Amino acid sequence: MTLKKSVSVFGVTGSIGASTVDVLKSHTDKYAVEAVTAHRNVDALATAAIELRAKCAVIGDPDCFDALKSALAGTGIDIAAGEEALIEAAERPSDIVIAAIVGAAGLKPTLAAIRRGARIGLANKETLVCAGALMTAEIATHGATLIPVDSEHSAIFQVLEDREENRIDRILLTASGGPFREWSLEDMRSVTRAQALAHPNWEMGAKISIDSATMMNKGLELIEAWHLFPVAEEQIEIVVHPQSVVHSMVEYSDGSVLAQLGTPDMRTPIAYALSWPDRIKVDTPRLDFATIGSLKFETPDMNRFPALRLARQALQEGGTLPTVLNAANEVAVEAFLKDRIGFLDIAGTVEKLMTRLGSEALTSLDQVFETDAMVRRETAAYLASS
Ligand code: NAD
Ligand code: MG
Repeated sequence: MTLKKSVSVFGVTGSIGASTVDVLKSHTDKYAVEAVTAHRNVDALATAAIELRAKCAVIGDPDCFDALKSALAGTGIDIAAGEEALIEAAERPSDIVIAAIVGAAGLKPTLAAIRRGARIGLANKETLVCAGALMTAEIATHGATLIPVDSEHSAIFQVLEDREENRIDRILLTASGGPFREWSLEDMRSVTRAQALAHPNWEMGAKISIDSATMMNKGLELIEAWHLFPVAEEQIEIVVHPQSVVHSMVEYSDGSVLAQLGTPDMRTPIAYALSWPDRIKVDTPRLDFATIGSLKFETPDMNRFPALRLARQALQEGGTLPTVLNAANEVAVEAFLKDRIGFLDIAGTVEKLMTRLGSEALTSLDQVFETDAMVRRETAAYLASS
């Protein structure tokens, strides 16, 4: 008999969270659940906690404590609420933490799990974008392991394992191009919330769906890839691949290109983060190559998708600039989702804040938290005045 691995799922009520629940439910012989968390959705959190037989359920918003208490009364599941409680949940002894909170809000719990040397299945790319160098240093200090869940990075991780870094020529990060891949700038000006949320290939949470539409998601993934893999910034190339079948590729010094392919289903990279270095069964739809017929690739258009240019600039200049980019983007996306600004204003706002605030050398995690909070205030003030 093999011992079960224990798993905690942060952001269990989200899109990645739901896919993780699905994988865990079909492998209860291999995984036991320690803690599950959510922001405000008490009912979905309680359901997940009961279904997964979790030992503990934590809700981020303290005002939801009483509702969670009644929803889980008599189950024996430990409950808690608030930001501190999320950090304490990450400190509970699980072998694996699936980090699937959206945005910089995921940073502190992820860090707490890193500091006890856990394996992190990282979906929450924003934390690597705003504090990548400091997080990778913490990972090294505490002997933690980071396995990417983002499909592109999981693909690269899968084809990169055991390969020497000086033999890598390029990382080819694929991008679907989002719903507006073929739209003119003029047409993009009047994009609605519903149009931007309708991703052609993936079903995802609201924030990442908007990021995919502006292609800021690929910009964040460029920065994420640079932190995860041993290559220079100019060795990471973005390739538009509208079908989302090839999840990314690595080109080696002898000209070989290795790719990982699959249907667009996040359960595959989630399962790999759980089972690595082994593989487990997942019932995803399978690729039928004859039906697909041909695969399409294009160069991204930096004019229509300025977020790509801004993210590369943030990566090149480094310091706190990626933190500025990320926080300004989070505030701008929320404003767009509330119909307060237009679609093109999202990247416009990020560019404005990057120019206005510039970059400082990055020295501590406290500085990341302070910069993140300051940029959120500045962005809100800018949007209120424009
Ligand atoms: P989502 O909006 O569907 O879910 C977010 C989860 O985080 C929810 O459980 C929510 O309760 C929780 N949460 C939100 N704000 C919080 C806060 N302030 N404090 C504590 N918890 C909070 O998002 P998602 O699409 O599942 O994405 C999650 C992360 O995974 C993001 O970083 C995203 O970029 C990344 N990701 C998602 C996909 C995808 O297919 N959805 C693919 C790759 C990467
Ligand atoms: Mg991705």
